[in-house]
Amino acid sequence: MNLLFLGPPGSGKGTQAKVVCEDLGILHLSTGDLLRDSVRQGTELGGKARKYMEAGELVPDELIVGMIEEKMTGGELDNGYILDGFPRTVPQAEALKAMLTKNNSRLDMAVLIDVPDEEVVARLSKRAEIEGRADDADESIVRNRLDVYKKQTQPIIDFYRKESILEAVPGTGTIDEITARILSVIKE
Ligand code: AMP
Repeated sequence: MNLLFLGPPGSGKGTQAKVVCEDLGILHLSTGDLLRDSVRQGTELGGKARKYMEAGELVPDELIVGMIEEKMTGGELDNGYILDGFPRTVPQAEALKAMLTKNNSRLDMAVLIDVPDEEVVARLSKRAEIEGRADDADESIVRNRLDVYKKQTQPIIDFYRKESILEAVPGTGTIDEITARILSVIKE
């Protein structure tokens, strides 16, 4: 099962992706986590990505697509996965489609976790306290990430709607309630 989780920053994509991956026995692939690891390890990619991440801007498509291509060819995704935080732009969605087609593979479903803006800002400031992510702590950076989501990422919702694999799930309620909704659309 090859899945994609979509939603604004703070929608709970990462939390839900972890739980659902465990339930289904598939791999969780978060580009945000991979990038944060690269920054921590001081790799070349981390060095290039850092300034964008700190500003709440998107890292350039070619860096992200290169990172995903490496994972796709490494074999670790062969038994299924959830993509979390990728694609974030239409060119990334197109690059992913081309990569999958080349490998005779495809996405089975794109799950959109729907959360209102006000709730997103409140959740991110709470996450800043718990996880200490600098890009969650500053309200102007959080607002910028929401703007970036609306301008650059929301258009991919239509991309997957046109591919007829989009399923939207309300992202409010308890973590368990949201997990149950997601599992039910996946298993249907
Ligand atoms: P996330 O943990 O998914 O919120 O990602 C944290 C930051 O990493 C984002 O604000 C971006 O700067 C960067 N990032 C993660 N995934 C992508 C992507 N697919 N395209 C561009 N930038 C990304």
